[in-house]
Amino acid sequence: MFAGECSFIKGAVHLDGVPATAGVEIAFAGRSNVGKSSLVNALTGRKTLAKVSNTPGRTQELNFFQIGPKLTLVDMPGYGFAAAPEAKVNAWTRLIRRYLRSRPQLGRVYVLIDSRHGIKNTDEPILDLLDASAVSYQVVLTKVDQLKAAELEARKDEVRTALSRRPAAYPEILATSSREGEGLAELKSAIARLVSE
Ligand code: GDP
Repeated sequence: MFAGECSFIKGAVHLDGVPATAGVEIAFAGRSNVGKSSLVNALTGRKTLAKVSNTPGRTQELNFFQIGPKLTLVDMPGYGFAAAPEAKVNAWTRLIRRYLRSRPQLGRVYVLIDSRHGIKNTDEPILDLLDASAVSYQVVLTKVDQLKAAELEARKDEVRTALSRRPAAYPEILATSSREGEGLAELKSAIARLVSE
C-alpha cells in the first residue's frame, strides 16, 4: 500500500480548506521535534514528503497526502512550542477541534510521543481534544533507538498507565524508530488493517 503512488494533496490552515477525501483517513499528531516528519517520510519511503524540522514561525496547517486510492495520511501541525503566542495556540486548538469533529472518515490518530521524554503537559491538550471528540487514537513512541530495552519497557508501562483513564485511547502502544526502522512494519500493517476494515 505504501510502496505505490503517494502524493501531496494540499495544506489547510482553516477547516474550509480541508479537502474531501475518499476511503480512510489516518492522522499523525505530536510535539514539534518528536520525529513526526521523519516517521511520515519513513512510512511512505519518501524523503521529502513531510518537511523535516518545522520552524516555530511556520504556518500551522493540516497537510494531506494521498497513499493509493483508499488511504489519506494527515500530518497535523506540531504543538508545544515554549514561546508560542496565545493567539497561535488558540488557532491550533480551534483548527484541531473542528477537524476532529468533522471527519467521519478519520479512522485513527497516531499521537507521537518521544520515548526519551514520555507524555508531557504539552501533550495533554491533544489527548483531551481526542477524548472529547471520541476519535480513536493510539500512542506511537518515537526514537526508541535511544533507549535500552528495560528503559523502553518502563516507558511503555508509564504511558499505558497514563492512558488507562482516557476513554478514546487504544491501549496498545507502538514503539518505533525512523532511524533504525524498528516498529515501522508493525505500524504499516496496523494502518493496512484500518483501511481494510
Ligand atoms: P518533527 O518536528 O516532529 O517533524 O520532527 P523531525 O522529524 O523533524 O525530527 C526531529 C529531530 O529528531 C531531527 O533531528 C531528527 O533527525 C530526529 N529524529 C527523528 N526520528 C528519529 C529516530 O527515529 N531516532 C533518532 N535518534 N532521532 C530521530
